[in-house]
Amino acid sequence: MTPGRQRHPPWTRRIFILAAGCAAPALANAERCAVCGRKLHARSWIFEGKLCCSETCVDRLRPRCSMCGQSMRGEYIEAEGKLYCGNACLERTFPKCEICKGPIRKGYTITSHRYCENCVQSLPTCFSCGLPAAHPTHLGDGRDICVHCLRWAVTKPAPAEMHYDRVRRQLEAWTGLPLATLPALELVDLGEMQRLAKEIRKSDAPVSVRGLYSRQTTVTRRRVLGTWKVDGAEERECIYIVDHLHDEVFRVAAMHELMHDLIHEHFPRLADAPLWVHEGVCQQAAAEYCRRRNQVDILHGIEQCEDPDYGDGYRYIHALTGFEGWPALRRWMETVDVAALPATAPR
Ligand SMILES: [Zn+2]
Ligand SMILES: [Zn+2]
Ligand SMILES: [Zn+2]
Ligand SMILES: [Zn+2]
Ligand SMILES: [Zn+2]
Repeated sequence: MTPGRQRHPPWTRRIFILAAGCAAPALANAERCAVCGRKLHARSWIFEGKLCCSETCVDRLRPRCSMCGQSMRGEYIEAEGKLYCGNACLERTFPKCEICKGPIRKGYTITSHRYCENCVQSLPTCFSCGLPAAHPTHLGDGRDICVHCLRWAVTKPAPAEMHYDRVRRQLEAWTGLPLATLPALELVDLGEMQRLAKEIRKSDAPVSVRGLYSRQTTVTRRRVLGTWKVDGAEERECIYIVDHLHDEVFRVAAMHELMHDLIHEHFPRLADAPLWVHEGVCQQAAAEYCRRRNQVDILHGIEQCEDPDYGDGYRYIHALTGFEGWPALRRWMETVDVAALPATAPR
């Protein structure tokens, strides 16, 4: 099974409102202006204990806005160690929301993406990339897809097969192990995927499912001279992937599901290993693919997943794999004491 992405808490910036001191008129005496050094006239100003000849000189003593450079009278703003004359200048320093382009006073950062709170709360989540969906398209089965994912969406069997084959070759190259039988690929909509997930997985995991690997053995029997004989057992392997995924997301999902098949073919000793081992190893294959293709957003979703099987399973497998990568993982899969593995992933 390939899961989607989880939500992140918002961040806020710390902003303080301060006030500059007032300049009071003062009576002139023989002194000179503390700023320009000219002799003081009859009318002069005192600002924070300093005598000045004019308001212009007083302004030079006042704090300056670090955005527009103007000297500030009355209220001004401090944010992250810098001073601003008002909201207009402060907002020019805010990051811009990726969707509405407005300044972010309170918002969310997801990998390199920044969104204002309003966009995150008012827009649906794209089922493909898991980010707030800009200009979403609503699909008939209840899903929303963002404009970026829609442009690259895998919707038809022929391109799906092309991506699938490419991923198969990359998995074989990464592991050095060939897949003897390739599961059939089927693109399904969300309703069908949910039905299959219940039937195949029988779990209520809170992750939204993008892909599924299924293996069913059909035993055919024939009556021969009054008794039933087993004619042959036919194994049907199938990988289901939800349609309309961005092609990069599709390939990551396919990589995860094909890894299930590779485990089945080459590491039968893991057949009875707990679910977190299978999902952790498959997520490791998916993460490895993301790293090689520099898919930081999808990788982030895998690394931050909170699910105990997919998230904790992946983090455990990833840690033991270390810098060595596949050879270390392969050794572990060949030698681990399967019966001694805990039912849940160690954290
Ligand atoms: Zn899986
Ligand atoms: Zn002066
Ligand atoms: Zn300013
Ligand atoms: Zn916004
Ligand atoms: Zn998207």
